Amino acid sequence: MMFAEIIGQESVIQKLRNAKKDGRVAHAQLFLGPEGSGNFAIALAYAQFLNCPNASELDSCGTCPTCKKISNIQYADLHFSFPFYNKPGKTDTCTDDFGSEFRNLILRSPYFTYDQWVEECSKDHKALLFSVKEGANVLHKLSLTSYEGQYKIIVIWKPELFKADIANMLLKIVEEPPKNTLFFFVANSSENILNTILSRVQIIQVPKLKSSVIQEELTRIGVDAGKSNAIAHYADGDWCAAQNLIENEDPNEFLAVQFQSWMRNCYSKKISALFSWSTEMADQSRERQKQFLRYCLHQIRQNLILNYSNDSSLAQLTEKERAFSSKFSPFINHLNVEDLMLELEKAYTCVSQNVNPKILFMDLSIKIFRLLQRRQ
Ligand SMILES: [Zn+2]
Repeated sequence: MMFAEIIGQESVIQKLRNAKKDGRVAHAQLFLGPEGSGNFAIALAYAQFLNCPNASELDSCGTCPTCKKISNIQYADLHFSFPFYNKPGKTDTCTDDFGSEFRNLILRSPYFTYDQWVEECSKDHKALLFSVKEGANVLHKLSLTSYEGQYKIIVIWKPELFKADIANMLLKIVEEPPKNTLFFFVANSSENILNTILSRVQIIQVPKLKSSVIQEELTRIGVDAGKSNAIAHYADGDWCAAQNLIENEDPNEFLAVQFQSWMRNCYSKKISALFSWSTEMADQSRERQKQFLRYCLHQIRQNLILNYSNDSSLAQLTEKERAFSSKFSPFINHLNVEDLMLELEKAYTCVSQNVNPKILFMDLSIKIFRLLQRRQ
């Protein structure tokens, strides 16, 4: 993993480069950031940057045997410690028993969530932990001589789950590690990390990603403009969530996200948001614009049913749509429903004709805004 493969986070990476350049790489660091921020990926890329013999000032080379081994999670001086469950009938379970599962997880994507790991590691969703045995395992690994030269690094993921016993075992070595040994703790929250550990690490804050950065990355990997906008909006700075949305592609889910954010922006008359939304809609194919308008018509009808019927099951809505509609449906009533449908249908017809789509969608937004003001 090179820095070049990290999504955004340029200022975090620059601080890490500077630390190497100035010869002040802390021996115990905590990469602290929310899920999907890339804190684990950054720790991995930093391990590669520090060990690559051909690294430039900016990045590891990505092609030397060291870089290749680190990228493949097969570098003898790069160790991992992470939570796991005690295998039944085995009293000395440690991370080595889950090494290949954890490697698979990283190789699929170094942006992963705790839930993904629980799924990968324990199909029946057992609670995961660090055992005392794991403390001894870490100490043992660090006592071995370095195989590859440069730094021996242990990445400890989820130290939030440390109990006092394992933390106490590691205190001394974290404070005074053997020469050229580095601890990279990777955590989502400092709240549950024991103070004994927290006070001994240098904290590297990894903020959540900007939506614009997520959108750029989605576009770079070939997701179309409208969809990447919807995903970026929905993911809210979390690349894991964005990945999940791409993988579990449910076209209606994107339409739902688009529709809901459009309705919110129309209702609160956020002109600049509506303007950029119209531009994004205009960039999409006519087929997709029509698909969106069809979806809107369906939603308006279902929300009307929800508003007036005593039996909410009559409305054909998914669970997520229903959650939005519980607040939205009162806005769709007998005073505006006909005009709302009429405007959406007119727009649908216009899409097929040679109408400037940007103006069409902006104009439609303003009409929807006005119509949503008509309340019972
Ligand atoms: Zn290299």
